[in-house]
Amino acid sequence: MNRLRELLRQIDGCGYKAYKQLTSCFDFGSFQLSIDHVQGDPFALPSRISVHLNPLRHALPKELWSNRIRQTALEDALGRAVSAAITQHVRGSRGTGHSGSIEIATSGQQVLRRNAVLIDADGLEARLLFALPGSGRSILGREATTMFFEELPALVQQGLEYPGRDLSGLVRHVEQVEDQQALRDWLGDNQAVAFVANGSLLPRRSGIDDRPLEGAVPFKSPPELEVSVALPNCGQVSGMQIPRGVTLIVGGGFHGKSTLLQALERGVYNHIPGDGRELVATVADAVKIRAEDHRAIGQVNISPFISTLPGNRPTDCFSTENASGSTSQAANIIEALECNCSCLLIDEDTSATNFMIRDQRMQRLVPDSQEPITPLLHRVRELYEKEGVSTILVTGGSGDYLAVADRVLMLNNYRATDVTTKARRLADSPPGSMAGAPPLRNQQQRRINLQTAPFPGQRQVKILVREQRLLEYGRRRIDLSKVEQLVDVGQTEAIGQLLSHCWLQDPQQLNGLIASLELTLNGVAQRGLDLLLPWKAGHLALPRLYELAAAANRLREEG
Ligand code: ADP
Ligand code: MG
Repeated sequence: MNRLRELLRQIDGCGYKAYKQLTSCFDFGSFQLSIDHVQGDPFALPSRISVHLNPLRHALPKELWSNRIRQTALEDALGRAVSAAITQHVRGSRGTGHSGSIEIATSGQQVLRRNAVLIDADGLEARLLFALPGSGRSILGREATTMFFEELPALVQQGLEYPGRDLSGLVRHVEQVEDQQALRDWLGDNQAVAFVANGSLLPRRSGIDDRPLEGAVPFKSPPELEVSVALPNCGQVSGMQIPRGVTLIVGGGFHGKSTLLQALERGVYNHIPGDGRELVATVADAVKIRAEDHRAIGQVNISPFISTLPGNRPTDCFSTENASGSTSQAANIIEALECNCSCLLIDEDTSATNFMIRDQRMQRLVPDSQEPITPLLHRVRELYEKEGVSTILVTGGSGDYLAVADRVLMLNNYRATDVTTKARRLADSPPGSMAGAPPLRNQQQRRINLQTAPFPGQRQVKILVREQRLLEYGRRRIDLSKVEQLVDVGQTEAIGQLLSHCWLQDPQQLNGLIASLELTLNGVAQRGLDLLLPWKAGHLALPRLYELAAAANRLREEG
């Protein structure tokens, strides 16, 4: 500690590069400081430091991280505690550029597996971005001294040291996350795809503010779908169970349909206490499907939905740099199936109409033989009965779906009722298969052609995350802006790294691209995100297979 103080005194006012001498470890008594990487100038990415506390120092009881889910929850809570302490104790940017700031990567409303805070039997480590202060190109030694010797110890103490402190907030965080996981596990054991607890608050403040809307109408299950589930910590919880099968969410415009579906989309993740969606759970492999005009598609067999394209272009190995609404939505479904997703989440608001329906008048005017598209309407039952893939579909306009639904949920003034019986009466006959539609799955054909996987065996590829959802992979770009279940920039960062790791294993030998991605992802889930980088960093968050595969499938050739 004294060595660091002395070093900072010596280099005060020197050229910024002299900060490099700090790359070392220092004993701060209550914690160990490691300066892992020193930035080259005040405008570069901030320096990376980590602090390590032994178990006596953090004093967090073992039962708070006794299993994987508890550990993730505790690490999440500690990251948020450090982040709050930073707001309170750190002055923030001072000097040139962003220099002088301290940051830690945390998630929004979701609880994600990250590598910013890690706890195990050896102790607790937190990784921070520490922008060393400079004025122009010279070192602000005194400012740095304040950061290291006043601000850092204060935030470590407040965020990470718990001897003699009230742990009830941490306990609540851990127990609630564990309950959400238990609820999701319960779904699988009970032939259900989703659960929404009574009292849940689903709407968000705005499109850019993911916190709960104040004064929202709490969710209440229709009696027909209400069940009670026993959770390990909070006991019995009542709410709506959505069984497997085809479920429609209908109702007038602005009555809360999309809001419910969005809560289900996010229900694949756990949420922080106070979010309002703590007890909304969807099966972990539920995938939001939407139209995504202009997306790139590489060698996907969309023939189950689209038989031919103008000029007799075949669709069993379809590639384009600029998909249409219907081709993009078809590819999104095929890709999700290839990842073994068990539930599709679809909103009419973000779907291509001609992909969803083709009504009888239109069928009379344009004969089936001239229409290459088999709408989802004619596939959705087959998806469930032959492939075991459920669908939850929001529709306000198309009554044709009533005939193919197992149950119909109506939203009126944000209140849900079960209108299945009435809907059955209205729907006279199920729409038959359309003439000329090929089977959903032809065992001879691949869903995604991997013989010529689009990835060259690049070992060193530069990966850059431009915005939360824009990834640069070498000279190629991956646009994830419409991949709605990607929730954190740390996931985008991890996806870039996962892609580059995956290619080292030769996807051809591994029964395909998805299998290779899955293997890489499982390895990281087991052994930790640190597997992905040769140096210590704290900015990664674990994605799901579906978002990882979505990235692999959207690789676009661009200079
Ligand atoms: P729909 O898809 O049926 O047209 P939305 O889900 O988009 O409707 O919701 C319309 C508006 O109502 C949104 O601004 C949303 O935030 C709000 N809203 C949704 N659910 C609730 C609720 N339970 N309480 C209060 N406002 C809600
Ligand atoms: Mg809507």
